[in-house]
Amino acid sequence: MSNVLDGKVALVTGGSRGIGAAVALRLAADGADVALTYQQNGDRAAQVVEQIKAAGRRALAVRADNADPAALTRTVDEVVGEFGRIDILVNNAGIYLAGPVDDLGLAEFDLSIAVNVRAPFVTSKAAARHMVSGGRIINIGSNMAQRAAFPGHSVYSLSKTALIGLTKGLGRDLGPRGITVNLINPGPTDTDANPADGPYAEAIRGFTALGQYAEPADIAAAVAFLAREDSRYLTGATIDVDGGFAI
Ligand code: NDP
Repeated sequence: MSNVLDGKVALVTGGSRGIGAAVALRLAADGADVALTYQQNGDRAAQVVEQIKAAGRRALAVRADNADPAALTRTVDEVVGEFGRIDILVNNAGIYLAGPVDDLGLAEFDLSIAVNVRAPFVTSKAAARHMVSGGRIINIGSNMAQRAAFPGHSVYSLSKTALIGLTKGLGRDLGPRGITVNLINPGPTDTDANPADGPYAEAIRGFTALGQYAEPADIAAAVAFLAREDSRYLTGATIDVDGGFAI
């Protein structure tokens, strides 16, 4: 437990499982009150909320589909209504629709853009309205934005690459207000979406310099640094927390 984020309020999208759950728990361990969204796993979201409350912080879970802009805006309003402020936004929720280009249609394209790109834009815009100097927006991209190491990722990679531009543009817009915006590109991370014992895990591991998967807590540690006051001169940056996948 630390208290570097005492008095801060964080919103983590997709906080019911995987990287988002680890981020929510880490920010709470560092002192923040934490709201998280989920799409369908209310039970898993409730478990994370209970863990945060057990750590002595306030917590809230909100069902909000990233594909629904109105739900995201409502969620930000609900967080501010409940906790009185919002200081840290982590745009983590994402989907991974992969396949050979012949199999990827407009439906996969549009949904990937809606969930992985439009949602971070909408949520950042809504949250920034409430942020004061010291505010933090942290986007979660992907190693697949930096290196198309194997086939089948055209749409996913393009959606995550878009976050590099969004992060720079928002960083420029919000910098004068003392709000920083940064992007973390995780490498292969042991979650339901990419289990470290999955059928392709050995090959994926081989693309990293460290030869191993990240734990969700490894990504959360980088988010926690960006959330802190002493990261204040870092904005518009893309940080690869990828075990050397991109090198
Ligand atoms: P998981 O599939 O393990 O968890 C996804 C989380 O996002 C869940 O909380 C899920 O909620 C939520 N979610 C999914 N779709 C939506 C939606 N439409 N609206 C709201 N919430 C949604 O994913 P990871 O933890 O592995 O991934 C988290 C982020 O990290 C993603 O952006 C992913 O692209 C990125 N990433 C992951 C890597 C990895 O190897 N794991 C590597 C690089 C990037 P629910 O529980 O309700 O379904």
